[in-house]
Amino acid sequence: MPRAVHVKAGTVLFRTGEPGDVAYFIDSGLLQIQTHPGPDAVILAQHGKGQLIGEMAIIDGGPRSATVIAAEDSVLYPVSRDQIASRLKTVDPVIRACLETVLVRFRATMRTLSELQAKQAATPHDSRSDAPSAAALRQAVESLKLETEIRSGIERGEFVVHYQPIIALDTGDLHGFEALMRWEHPRLGRLGPQHFIPVAESAGLMPELTAWLVDAAIEGLLTIDLGLAVPHTSARAPRLSINVSAIDLAEDRLVTHLRARLRAHEVPPARLTVEVTETALMTNTEQAVAQLQILRDLGCGVAIDDFGTGYANLSYVRTLPASSLKLDRSFTAAMTEDALTRRLVDSVLTLGRDLNMAVVAEGLELSEDMVLLRQMGCPYGQGFGIARPADQVHMAAWARRWQKGERPAPFKDAAGLAGPMERTNRAQISTLKEDQLS
Ligand code: C2E
Ligand code: CA
Ligand code: CA
Repeated sequence: MPRAVHVKAGTVLFRTGEPGDVAYFIDSGLLQIQTHPGPDAVILAQHGKGQLIGEMAIIDGGPRSATVIAAEDSVLYPVSRDQIASRLKTVDPVIRACLETVLVRFRATMRTLSELQAKQAATPHDSRSDAPSAAALRQAVESLKLETEIRSGIERGEFVVHYQPIIALDTGDLHGFEALMRWEHPRLGRLGPQHFIPVAESAGLMPELTAWLVDAAIEGLLTIDLGLAVPHTSARAPRLSINVSAIDLAEDRLVTHLRARLRAHEVPPARLTVEVTETALMTNTEQAVAQLQILRDLGCGVAIDDFGTGYANLSYVRTLPASSLKLDRSFTAAMTEDALTRRLVDSVLTLGRDLNMAVVAEGLELSEDMVLLRQMGCPYGQGFGIARPADQVHMAAWARRWQKGERPAPFKDAAGLAGPMERTNRAQISTLKEDQLS
C-alpha cells in the first residue's frame, strides 16, 4: 500500500464517470460524496475517520458512481486494484461470485437512489455514526498498514530468524534447527509469525518473505556451524528446517531459489528440510506435491508439520513425498495425562516406522514428556524443555555447549532425562521469555 496521502479541503478526489483504480481509507478528516462536481450537486453522504470510499471501482473496475471532494483537510490511505486483485484470488469462488453479484445490484440501486435523492434534495446521510463497520474498517486499515510495513521491513532488515534445536531423543545428539521468523517491528515491538504471516499470505507477499527467510536462515546456519566440530559441507552437520506456506509451493520460485542458495553456500541438500502443514497440502495438492517431490529428488527432507491436526487420512499421507512427520504439540501436552492420546501417539510412531518417515515430537516442555516419548521409541524431539527459539548468536553458543556434552537440566543424569524440569509446570514454562534458553 502506498504511503498516506494528505489532501486539502476542497480537493476533488475523483469525478462521476471517471475510471477508478484506487479506493481510500480515511485516516482523518471528512470527505463529501456528491452526485457530480459543481455547486448544483446533491450531497449524498459524508464519510469520516475509519471509513472506506471508492471501493466499488477497485473491485469491479466500473466507472466512479459519484464525485468525492475533501470537506476538510484529510489523511487517506490509498488501496489499489492490484492489492484487491491478489486478495480476491485467494477468496472462495462462491464468495467471489456473491460479492460480484452484490456489487452489480448495489450499483443499480445507487443509480436509482441518487436519481431519487437528486429530485428530492434529501438530507445527507452522515455515516460517521456507523460504529460496527468502522471497527471492521479500522482492522482492515491496520492490516493494510502492516502490508506496507512488511515490504519496507524486509528492506530495512527488521525481520530476524530464530532457531530452535531438534535433538535425537535416545542419544541427545543435536539433529538440527528449525528456523522461525520474528519481526522486530519499530512501532509494535517483536511480533511472532501469527501476526504477520496471514497478512503476507493474503497480500501476495509470501514469496518475497520466504525468499528472504531462505537467505537469512542459511546464513545463520553457517554462523552456528562455525562453532561446531563438523564442517558445513558435511551432510552430517546439523540440519536446517524452514517453514513454507501453501502459496510458496504454487510456483517453482522457492525450489529454484533454494537450490541456488544451497549451491552457492556449498550446503548439501540433505541438510535442508522444508516443513509444510497438512492443511497447506490440502489446499494446493497437485502443484505442491510436485514441488515437494523435486525437493526430495534434490536430496532435501520434507516434513509434514502439525501432524494430527489436519484431516489427512492415512492413505493420503502414504502418497506424499515426505521424509518426516512433526507430531503437533497438542498431542505431547495431553499424552502424559491421557491414555487415549498416548495410543494415538503410538499409532503415529508406528505409521512413521511403516512409511519410513522420522517422527519429531513438538512441544516437549517437561522431562516427563521426553522420558515417555523416548520410551515409546520416538526418534526426535523439540520444545521449550530443551531450548527456546533464539537468534543465531545465542543458538550458536547453546549448540557449542550442547555438543561439548553440557546438557541442560532434563538431560543431566545417567538416564539422560531427569532433572529440575519436573518441578516446573507447563503454565510456568509457557510464560518464560523467548531468549531464555534452558
Ligand atoms: P510451527 O512450525 O509449529 O513452529 C513451532 C512453534 O511452536 C513455534 O512458534 C515455537 O516457538 C513454538 N514452540 C516450540 N516449542 C514449544 C513448546 O515447548 N511449547 C510451546 N507452547 N510452544 C513451543 P512460533 O515461532 O510462534 O511459530 C508459529 C508458527 O508460525 C509456526 O508453527 C509456523 O507454522 C509459522 N512460522 C514460523 N516461522 C515461519 C516462516 O518462516 N514461514 C512460514 N511460512 N511460517 C512460519
Ligand atoms: Ca514448523
Ligand atoms: Ca508444528
